[in-house]
Amino acid sequence: MKLENMKKVRLGYYPTPLEVLPRLSAKHGHNIYIKRDDMTGPATGGNKTRKLEYILQEAIDQGCTAILTLGGPQTNHGRTTVAAAIQYGLKPILVLGGDAPEYLSGNLTLDAMMGAELVFSQDREAAAQKVIAEYAARGEKVYYMPAGGSNATGVLGYIQAVPEIMEQLAKQDIHPRFLLCAVGSQGTYDGLLLGAKYYHAPFQVMGVPVAPLKEGQTEEMAAFMNAVSRHYELGVQVTPEDIRLFSGPEACPYTGFAYSVPDDATRSTLLEAAREEGIILDPVYTGKAFRGMLDLMDRGELDGDVLFLHTGGTAAVWTQEHLDAAQSALRDNCTIREL
Ligand SMILES: *Cc1c(COP(=O)(O)O)cnc(C)c1O
Repeated sequence: MKLENMKKVRLGYYPTPLEVLPRLSAKHGHNIYIKRDDMTGPATGGNKTRKLEYILQEAIDQGCTAILTLGGPQTNHGRTTVAAAIQYGLKPILVLGGDAPEYLSGNLTLDAMMGAELVFSQDREAAAQKVIAEYAARGEKVYYMPAGGSNATGVLGYIQAVPEIMEQLAKQDIHPRFLLCAVGSQGTYDGLLLGAKYYHAPFQVMGVPVAPLKEGQTEEMAAFMNAVSRHYELGVQVTPEDIRLFSGPEACPYTGFAYSVPDDATRSTLLEAAREEGIILDPVYTGKAFRGMLDLMDRGELDGDVLFLHTGGTAAVWTQEHLDAAQSALRDNCTIREL
């Protein structure tokens, strides 16, 4: 299969803006640019939109009537999938970890508004297979999408985001040495790295993992990327050394405590970006990656201008546990008066 022949449906609005963050640049000593993939749409948008355009096309081509994906209860990927599925007449099913919550907040509010089928389970894989079998018994065909949409089809989204970014950099005559993003299910990072190699991008792709790395993870990532490269005949080769992931100091890692667990350092970064630039980051992904970027810059480890990929996730700001944890920080240096 050739990259150039891969078709996609239309879900997002492109090109997403690419702009400078002047106050944070002055404060941290290098130009910091931001690529606003939090503005892709639909249903508040984010990085899953570019992946879903290729995946929806595949689901439609296969004659599927429903689309199922897995994730944490507050999955942004799930919320974007629901909106995408609705727009193309497929039934959205989300299989989420844990028990069904009493109170719907954050992404779950939006999932419920859009009428998704929400399945909660301690064993998501088993639950997914059960739901797929139920649908099949009724004559329906379910497209199974892994968490984060990070299969070989989804990776196309960020391979093809690279030429969009390169064109914007050339037009604006700006030259960031690094492109940095949050790393979760890895499809975004994988696509960007493959795209950067394939299109000879003038920047290095860097990532900040949002949960601690597993043993051998970079080797696995390289193997996956090489398989994708062969599949689409890209003719590029990725080694583990090409994969540049930064987890931060052991005492206070950029990953925080764990996936989606609120932490003070990430929250401070959310306030810094909001108060300096009016940019809303999220506590689960972009806040951690942005904190990592600023810290690496302050330590001199990112010695040059940086382009930050804002991957969205804004709806997670309104998750009940993050709101509860943020209350006192929100009131610091904020004037609240009754007159
Ligand atoms: C899913 C997600 C990421 C991580 O992207 P992956 O492709 O899963 O690595 C980053 N930011 C936000 C807001 C996300 O929802």
